[in-house]
Amino acid sequence: MGRWVYPAALPDGRSVLLMKVLMSNVCENNCLYCVNRRGNDRPVLSFAPDELASLFMKMFYANLVQGLFLSSAIFKSVRRTMDRMLATVELLRYRYRFQGYIHLKVLPGAGISQLERAARLADRVSVNLEAPSASRLSKIAPQKRFSEELLSRIRLLSRLIKQANHGKRYGPKGQTTQFVVGAAGESDTEILSVSKNLYDKLDLSRIYFSAFQPARGTPLEGLKPTPLLREHRLYQADFLFRRYGFSMEEIGFTEEGNLPLGKDPKTIWAEGHPEFFPVEVNTAPKELLMRVPGFGPLTVKRILHIRTEHRIRSLDQLKRMGAVTRNALGYVLLDGHLPGKPSSSQLDIWQSEPVSFAVTRNTCSFL
Ligand code: SF4
Repeated sequence: MGRWVYPAALPDGRSVLLMKVLMSNVCENNCLYCVNRRGNDRPVLSFAPDELASLFMKMFYANLVQGLFLSSAIFKSVRRTMDRMLATVELLRYRYRFQGYIHLKVLPGAGISQLERAARLADRVSVNLEAPSASRLSKIAPQKRFSEELLSRIRLLSRLIKQANHGKRYGPKGQTTQFVVGAAGESDTEILSVSKNLYDKLDLSRIYFSAFQPARGTPLEGLKPTPLLREHRLYQADFLFRRYGFSMEEIGFTEEGNLPLGKDPKTIWAEGHPEFFPVEVNTAPKELLMRVPGFGPLTVKRILHIRTEHRIRSLDQLKRMGAVTRNALGYVLLDGHLPGKPSSSQLDIWQSEPVSFAVTRNTCSFL
């Protein structure tokens, strides 16, 4: 039971326990990384819609969960499975009058009327792209069609969400997607180019990156696992897009098109742009403060507020505002003074030419 319950942050910032469950783990597809792929020997389980809806409500009334994340393997056909998932959600909404959070996974190639039903019923919907291009996807999920079954569904959901009448009780507040990282030999540049386009052009709310970990009994069992640090760096770059206004061209990549693992992408950008630093915390505009390593959006908000009342003169003050001061050392002035003792590498920054690092341009044009 415990493996079905996961803590999650909702779009409005609340934290809830979600029942995360598959309608069925019996699949027609044979994605090479997945334990639920066709023919894989394992215990199987499928729910009927009323069975799953009633189980969820029991857990809800027992205060074990507050919301539902419903996904599924493709049991017999996409249409049939999607109908059963939608029937489950309809039972929850209309028979049990459940008004809480529901995240509904939309299966590849789901019908247009099914997408419309999903958009009416769920708080959040998602289609997993899994890979950044058709050719990469064919290496790990040969039966899924990138443009026709996945991207087209994301596009349509984006339109439905825009049209959604937010006065209605239900209806998605956004959609998300997910990439399996490292199984198809793709680079971070490929993943982030597509991600940036999804945010900019199709208004995705969030993109999730899942470091590939080989599962026993799958064709990719022998492949090396993707380091979790790579996943972490992708989330940091993604955060720079969403919260700091970075463009794709401002992210530094290695020659191979990957994010360097040794340093976070914001620090790499700052090291490559000594012309912007050090910034005077008491007068710098918000956009420049947001570029300082160790300053997050909340810290910057606090700085902007506090400096209207008094000058910021010490690292302790910055620390109390949430700054990671060891990262900010060398990049800021406090009342005209360089605080603390910058590391020798930080001092080098001010004495050197801008560091050149490989930047791969966004070549993704299909969105
Ligand atoms: S469609 Fe989903 S459940 Fe089926 S094999 Fe692929 S990843 Fe696994």
